[in-house]
Amino acid sequence: MPTLAVGVKDSPHALKSLEIYKTLIGMPTVAGRGKVPEMAAYLAREFREVGFKDEDINIIPMGETVGMIVRYKGDGTAAKKPILLLGHMDVVEALDKDWDRPPFELTQDDKYFYGRGTIDNKLGITMLSSTFIRLKKEGFMPNRDMFLAFTGDEETGMLTTKMLANERPELANAEYALNSDAGGGDLDANGKAIAYLVQAAEKTYVSFELTLRNKGGHSSRPRPDNAIYELSTALLNIRDYHFPVMWSDMTREFFKVSGTQLGGELGEAMTAFAADPTNKKASDRLETESSYVGTTRTTCVTTMLKAGHAENALPQSATATVNCRIFPGISVDDVKQTLAKVVKNAAIEIVTLDSPVESPISELRDDVMAAVKKAVHARYPKVEIIAYMESGGTDGMHFRKAGIPTWALPSVFMNPDEMFAHGLNERLPIKTFYDGLDHWSIILKDLTGK
Ligand SMILES: [Zn+2]
Repeated sequence: MPTLAVGVKDSPHALKSLEIYKTLIGMPTVAGRGKVPEMAAYLAREFREVGFKDEDINIIPMGETVGMIVRYKGDGTAAKKPILLLGHMDVVEALDKDWDRPPFELTQDDKYFYGRGTIDNKLGITMLSSTFIRLKKEGFMPNRDMFLAFTGDEETGMLTTKMLANERPELANAEYALNSDAGGGDLDANGKAIAYLVQAAEKTYVSFELTLRNKGGHSSRPRPDNAIYELSTALLNIRDYHFPVMWSDMTREFFKVSGTQLGGELGEAMTAFAADPTNKKASDRLETESSYVGTTRTTCVTTMLKAGHAENALPQSATATVNCRIFPGISVDDVKQTLAKVVKNAAIEIVTLDSPVESPISELRDDVMAAVKKAVHARYPKVEIIAYMESGGTDGMHFRKAGIPTWALPSVFMNPDEMFAHGLNERLPIKTFYDGLDHWSIILKDLTGK
């Protein structure tokens, strides 16, 4: 286990970051507990203390939670639109009785920090906030405005996300957003860096309910028309349907880099796909890999079934839930219409569940990638930086949908096997906390410095 350089923990920035981290973990900002406003008020005090003006700190209430905007005013010399920095203040519920340690108290052993939010996403909120504080104290003057845009219900309704992404004129004008939530560096079991992932897109997450009704009857008098049999046939048709192969510059780059890194026969298929996405042999090969199929096309799979009402009755209805992850650029309605054709049974009703969010791919920008490279390579020289498409669910999708390209590029580097975000005993390697202290200031100085 590599150790920390002497003195790293004692700098004012390290001490302030740890103090903020500890305070935030101590606040159970779970939906329903009403603690997010307290957290925002605490952060506001920290910002005011180093000279952020009241008019540049904005806390916007929304039900029991809040969204928060902090403006780091630039001198405007770049004549460029602002950069947004995203994070979420809320966390997933955690119960004392289930955890080995108290979830809402920052604890540690010699290797890890423990507590709800140590990764998701109080690390991000901490690092972005302490970086703003540090830069302000250093007297750093950016050449354009930077805004912290912190949401307060990312894990649940995302109402604050929608509000920040769509209803705030000062944010709507942004050139792009950098998210502290999602993506990050992967380490192997020996602490060697494998790759750093930048989240550049999210597939549209949507579930459909397919229902077939029947007049039913007595099971001693079976007929060929039967809701369960007919729905089953429809589901097998969905299983056998292959959505068309899709790609973008970003996904081709993903396969190019991953293929070179992975090597072997699968790596070759990736490289071949990157060179020519119409290469059917390559896309067929990738379709057989559950980790990669989603980056080549829309996928739909049956996840739940509900049918019949008595063991001695013909079923009066059968309902299946089909969950889809839609490739950006394809609408939910397109997929619904495709399913309606594929099932080959006009009697099946298809209902879209919830309100899916469709968001475009954020194609990579050289300046942003160069800044990330600088920050990541300062810690792990030469590690490969790979943009990827996620299967949906972060604040980024609402900003992308609102026309603001968004990339997630957090300070975290860890072994994916140690990742317990949303789960029990969430933890962060202490080393990644301290190693990541300069991550955001390197990126922001590169993008907004003179
Ligand atoms: Zn998160």
